[in-house]
Amino acid sequence: MDFKSILVSWYLENRRDLPWRHTKNPYYIWVSEVILQQTRVAQGLSYYQQFIKSFPTITALAAAHEDSVLKVWQGLGYYTRARNLHKAAKLIVNQHDGNIPEEYNELIKIKGIGAYSAGAIASFAFKKAVPAIDGNVYRIIARIFGVFSLPTSAQGKREFFQIVTDLMDKKSPDTFNQALLDFGALQCVPKSPKCGDCPFQQYCYAYRNNMIDSLPVKGKKLVPRHRYFTYLLIRYGYYTFIYKRQSKDIWHSLYEFPLIETDKEVEPIELHKNDQWNEWFGCEKVTINYISDEFKHLLSHQTLHTRFVIVKIDSIPPKLTSECTMVPTTEIDNYSTPKLIDNFLAAEPATKYFLSTHDKK
Ligand code: SF4
Repeated sequence: MDFKSILVSWYLENRRDLPWRHTKNPYYIWVSEVILQQTRVAQGLSYYQQFIKSFPTITALAAAHEDSVLKVWQGLGYYTRARNLHKAAKLIVNQHDGNIPEEYNELIKIKGIGAYSAGAIASFAFKKAVPAIDGNVYRIIARIFGVFSLPTSAQGKREFFQIVTDLMDKKSPDTFNQALLDFGALQCVPKSPKCGDCPFQQYCYAYRNNMIDSLPVKGKKLVPRHRYFTYLLIRYGYYTFIYKRQSKDIWHSLYEFPLIETDKEVEPIELHKNDQWNEWFGCEKVTINYISDEFKHLLSHQTLHTRFVIVKIDSIPPKLTSECTMVPTTEIDNYSTPKLIDNFLAAEPATKYFLSTHDKK
C-alpha cells in the first residue's frame, strides 16, 4: 500500500480550510495547535482570532501579565495550556531572542512545548520531516496497521513515532501531517468511523478484523472523583470578595469566590456549622439572600457538585480580608474566572441578587 499517496489524495479532496493553514508564521501555528489540543475547531476558531489579536507577536505574549492571558483563554478550559504557552513564550524571548527554534530537538527542550506542538511547529512552519502525533494519529495508525501498544506508554509512544516517521512524505511533511490530522478528525473518527467510503478500507487491519472499537488500545479508566463546592458570593455594599487559586489543583491562577469544599453534600442552611465558615465569619452576622440549585460540572475525571450562595454582611470579618481580596462587584468581569462561575454570573439569580445590588456603604 502506498500510504502517503492514498492519504494525500484523500486530503486534497477533503481538507479543511483553516486560517492557520494559510500562514507559515511559527507563532500563529503554535498558538493554533495549542488551542486545538483539547478543543473542537468550531469552538477554537474564535479563541485563536482573539488570542492573536490580543497578543500579535511572541514578544507581546511574553510581556503580558498572566492574568490577561488567562482572561483571553477564559471559557476554553484546560488552562495549563495557556500557562505553558505563556511560560514558553517568555523563555523563547529570553533565550532565543524571540525566534522560535526550527528543529524538533530544540523545540522539545523548551519547557511548555510538548512533543505534538514541537512536531507541528517544526513541520508546518519549517517543513522539517518530523511527526506531529495527537490522538487522531494514534487512532489511524493503530487501526490501519493493527498496532496494539498503549499510546500513553513510553514504549507505545516510541513505536508510533517510528511508524509515522517511516511513513512520512519527507518532501512535504507539512501536508502529510495535516492530512493525518484531518483524516482522523473527519474520516477515521473515534466512534462510527466512515469505513464505507474510506480509501484504506481494503488494507485496514481494524476494519478487516472487526476491531474498530478495540483500537487504539485504551488504558485503565480512571474512576471520576466527586467534589462538593459551595461558593459564597458575599455582598458588602458595593464590594465582594475573591481570591486567586494557588494550589496545585484545577484552575490554577484563576479567580473564584470564597469556596467551602466538603467531601459530601452540605445543606446551605447548615453552613454555619462548617469550620471554614466559622473561621471566616466568626460571630459576624451573615444573611443568606439566595441559594442556587446544585450544578454538576464535569471536568476530565472530576465531577464538581456546586452550589452558589449569595450572602450579605454588614461589617468586614478580618480573617476573610486576610485571605481574600475585596473588589467592587461590578468589576468581577475584569478577572478570569472558571466557566462554571462565569455561567452562573450570566444567569438571572446572579444578576438579580448579586450584580445589580448596590447597597451604599
Ligand atoms: S476503514 Fe474505517 S477504521 Fe479503517 S482507516 Fe478507514 S475509517 Fe478508519
